[in-house]
Amino acid sequence: MAPDTSICKEVPKFHSIHSDYSKSNANTEVQKVPSTKSATASVGRPGISSSNGVHELLDCHICMSMMYPPIHQCPNGHTLCSECKLRVHNRCPTCRHELGNIRCLALERVAESLELHCKYQSLGCYDMFPYSGKLNHEQECRFRPYNCPYAGSECSVMGDIPTLVTHLKDDHKVDMHDGCTFNHRYVKSNLEEVENATWMLTVFNCFGKQFCLHFETFRLGMAPVYMAFLRFMGDDNEAKKFSYTLEVGADRRKLTWQGVPRSIRLSHQKVRDSQDGLIIHKNLAIFFSGGDGRELKLRLTGRIWKEQ
Ligand SMILES: [Zn+2]
Ligand SMILES: [Zn+2]
Ligand SMILES: [Zn+2]
Ligand SMILES: [Zn+2]
Repeated sequence: MAPDTSICKEVPKFHSIHSDYSKSNANTEVQKVPSTKSATASVGRPGISSSNGVHELLDCHICMSMMYPPIHQCPNGHTLCSECKLRVHNRCPTCRHELGNIRCLALERVAESLELHCKYQSLGCYDMFPYSGKLNHEQECRFRPYNCPYAGSECSVMGDIPTLVTHLKDDHKVDMHDGCTFNHRYVKSNLEEVENATWMLTVFNCFGKQFCLHFETFRLGMAPVYMAFLRFMGDDNEAKKFSYTLEVGADRRKLTWQGVPRSIRLSHQKVRDSQDGLIIHKNLAIFFSGGDGRELKLRLTGRIWKEQ
């Protein structure tokens, strides 16, 4: 490993991370799949001229998403989805009439009769499903967008891997490196800032895939530790095809970790909490840093390879 591949960087800090991690899941989707105006699939029922018209019937007018049984209606016949029903305090949003608990069975039967596109069609999934299987499929669809793997902010960006790589580079200014070995120096001057977890992300292009190397500080119980781990930008079944090592040390001592990268489907915090990575206790990190103990200077080396 040539020394000139190392980088030297003040580890940035960030604040109030504790509640921020999981929020990004639900919020946004970069790409909203357009409804298929050109859908030619016939519904196969007399009186229904096009599946498009049926799809419009099944749009909830309040949240604009597709209604699934149970579908509700007010006494005047205004329909709404079950999630909106929970939100409107028993008042029809259209006519303000009291809602009660009336189901729209006719529309539910129409919904059940449809074969529907996976909502990630625009991302490459062309499978079709009866409504009952659609939601289950979408939770596991391999084309579903990934959350941004950047852990230091409340980032709600989602997308496929190429989109996220561009996003990490452009919006988070993440360092990108080509190659399957690395040699990084982490330098930090104020060692008392363990409380505000400091962290860093570097992305490696290797085997035509991208890997996120996370480095951060947090408290493990009472003990301040540093932790480094790798996440794979792709699904778990592919992540398992790779292995990696991390090594840190000085003065003829070293600490080595060999592991399997985790998919970025799994949140950064979950990987951290599972301690699936190289953990360096603060005192040892200071020892490895040499000097007077006021500065952290860790050299982290590693390698990624593909299992046969
Ligand atoms: Zn709704
Ligand atoms: Zn109404
Ligand atoms: Zn799908
Ligand atoms: Zn982001």
